[in-house]
Amino acid sequence: MRKGFTTRAVHQAGHKDQASKAVAFPIYQTSTFGQETPGDPTEYLGRKLSYGRTENPTRTVLEETLADIEEAKYGLTFATGLAAITAVVNTLQAGDRVVACNDLYGGAYRLFTQVYAKLGIEFEFVDTTNLSCVATALEKPTTVLWLETPSNPLLNVTDIEGACKLAHQAGALALVDNTFATPVLQQPLKLGADIVLHSTTKYLNGHGDVVNGSLLTDKKELWDKLKYVQNACGLVPGPQDCYLILRGLKTLGLRMERHCANARRIAEWLSGHPRVTQVYYPGLATHPGHAVAKRQMKDFGAMLSFEVDSGEEGARRVLSSFELFTLAESLGCVMSLVNHPASMTHASVPKEVRHAVGIGDGLIRVSVGIEDVEDLIADLDSALSKA
Ligand SMILES: *Cc1c(COP(=O)(O)O)cnc(C)c1O
Repeated sequence: MRKGFTTRAVHQAGHKDQASKAVAFPIYQTSTFGQETPGDPTEYLGRKLSYGRTENPTRTVLEETLADIEEAKYGLTFATGLAAITAVVNTLQAGDRVVACNDLYGGAYRLFTQVYAKLGIEFEFVDTTNLSCVATALEKPTTVLWLETPSNPLLNVTDIEGACKLAHQAGALALVDNTFATPVLQQPLKLGADIVLHSTTKYLNGHGDVVNGSLLTDKKELWDKLKYVQNACGLVPGPQDCYLILRGLKTLGLRMERHCANARRIAEWLSGHPRVTQVYYPGLATHPGHAVAKRQMKDFGAMLSFEVDSGEEGARRVLSSFELFTLAESLGCVMSLVNHPASMTHASVPKEVRHAVGIGDGLIRVSVGIEDVEDLIADLDSALSKA
């Protein structure tokens, strides 16, 4: 029987350093590995150690631990989330077509439209919360359906099982960016996805001190292709970063409980605030994706967005008035962060496109941390008084 989530996260796929039995797997800070005879590299943890870009034991342990907690057969880890995205797109060729959700992570949108579109890969962005839009988009031959749920920054929810079914009927692969939910709350491979992507920078590491990305799959042929690209394009993370993520993963289950409980309290509190006109949080019964989120997620996560009644000017005053919430890009770490999508995380998305998908200039995104929730609410209350 598979052991519980936190047991798996703490035990690192059963790996201990074989030489020393160190309880924390060591950082193999090395660029290469000596060989006894030419062309006969040392084997360790089932991998041939020839060169640090190709294999590194600390990275192997992270990849196998990530696979274990996502309940995937295979894992890979990358320098950043965008490097993981780059790896997937580099398995495609000119003429291939990607259908993606229309409120995709801003950096992925920029990479697709500014870097890969000119190499002949076609991208179409659709409202994947509406399965009939997905079905229409998949009428043209498609290579990958690219989903992000809950999405960034509006927390839109896509029915993973329904969308993956449509992708497979159309002969496309289905990828889910699971960064916002984490494997604690949502397991897309069980709902039909072929590839799960994480910006491990966020909750999986959780401490705001590393950038990293990962891909998980059950399909050996996909893993082989992606692993080839990981090495051929040199998209790998350093061993020290891998170590920090292994450390962060040990408390992921515990952190998510607190993150979600804090976010639920804050979403409810904001909903009752007289200056707040709109709260986007899938845990609220009024959220359009609530029913689907309830079905496919164990809890609703700790990302939320809201609007104040005084528009962009008011939002800017609020954003500059926090004591505990740091105004910063990124999300998913123990300390609470706030962000202004229009001028920060989503600034690379053209204004018309942003407005069309509902990302207004007065929108404030919150990544709720694990601090004591009364302190966070007091800070929000004081900042909102400047709205
Ligand atoms: C941050 C993020 C990424 C990109 O990851 P980096 O580690 O910043 O390169 C991709 N998808 C989502 C949903 C993200 O939040």
